[in-house]
Amino acid sequence: MKFPCARIDPEALRHNLAAVRRLAPHSRVLAIIKANAYGHGLVPVANALVEADALGVARLEEGQALRAAGITREVVLLEGVFSRAQLAMAAEGRFQLVVHSLEQVRMLELYRGDVRFEIWLKIDTGMNRLGLRAEEFADAYHRLRPLAVISRLRLMTHLACAEDPAGTVTAQQLARFASLTSGIEAELSIANSAGLILSPQSHTDWVRPGLMLYGISPTAQPADELGLRAVMTLTTQIIAVRDVNAGEAVGYGGAWRAGRASRIGIAAVGYGDGYPRHMRSGTPVLINGREASVVGRVSMDMTAIDLTDHPAARLGDEVTLWGEGLPAERVAPYAGMIPYELVCGVSQRVALQWLGGFVGNEQFF
Ligand SMILES: *Cc1c(COP(=O)(O)O)cnc(C)c1O
Repeated sequence: MKFPCARIDPEALRHNLAAVRRLAPHSRVLAIIKANAYGHGLVPVANALVEADALGVARLEEGQALRAAGITREVVLLEGVFSRAQLAMAAEGRFQLVVHSLEQVRMLELYRGDVRFEIWLKIDTGMNRLGLRAEEFADAYHRLRPLAVISRLRLMTHLACAEDPAGTVTAQQLARFASLTSGIEAELSIANSAGLILSPQSHTDWVRPGLMLYGISPTAQPADELGLRAVMTLTTQIIAVRDVNAGEAVGYGGAWRAGRASRIGIAAVGYGDGYPRHMRSGTPVLINGREASVVGRVSMDMTAIDLTDHPAARLGDEVTLWGEGLPAERVAPYAGMIPYELVCGVSQRVALQWLGGFVGNEQFF
């Protein structure tokens, strides 16, 4: 087996989709697979999530990669298109489009092809990133409504602080969305993973889970309590072991010094693989299923592990950086990061190994 290696468990993906359905039993699921399915592999994840009602990607190129792989399912481009040429390509790909600006409304008004689009009109209810502002929304809606080129018009918004259970922002956004959309006959969509978990009111017609599909909790509540299973487990092996004396330093910059006679294992993983350089000394890893910690600076290809309390650990033993038994959401703060960054950041050098046989790392965005 190649090391490092990101094992991907398609059963866990399906299990997490079922957990989404239990939480939001009356909603359809737009499964978010942008950014190479959060580092898990765009095409194989799309194939594993056959039960999702539609697939969501950020960009046209990601949608085109799905089509090139023969996937004919409903695909939503979450950022829509940015030129009339892209709109023509979106028509060719039969993509559903988010429309978040008056420029995009104009492109649809000018479209002269014969493909009809399903549109998700996005309202900015307070995030101030994408979406029509409240004062633009009525104009956009009334211009899109009569267009023959639109076969269906849905309304959506995105939550800025969904993972904060105590805050008031989500309640404000929900109220704004409810007031702007009241009286309009259309399917609605609000919730990302955190909304799905913490705000049942945000479920509406369509939920848009990303992170939780991959078995990672976006909230303070641990993934296993939410009934989620880690999909990616990043592992490598120990390629060298050495003893150092008390007072000796390990790694670049001598950033860590042994406080006692220590046994150090060198794991074949580093920032060139997407294991962040900012992982602090003390970051947990698993060695043969037991916790040990990183010492010194992570280098491009290697990371030192303190094996002093793991006398049985040997050359060739497996090290888990995150995943099964060691949630990415627990590891990420050691680098000042969020778990989204860890899984998205796994580099092309790491083989994605699908349990059940499929091996590949050819799909990257
Ligand atoms: C990425 C994204 C999501 C998924 O968010 P998670 O926090 O990963 O669940 C949902 N909706 C939109 C518009 C997104 O861009």
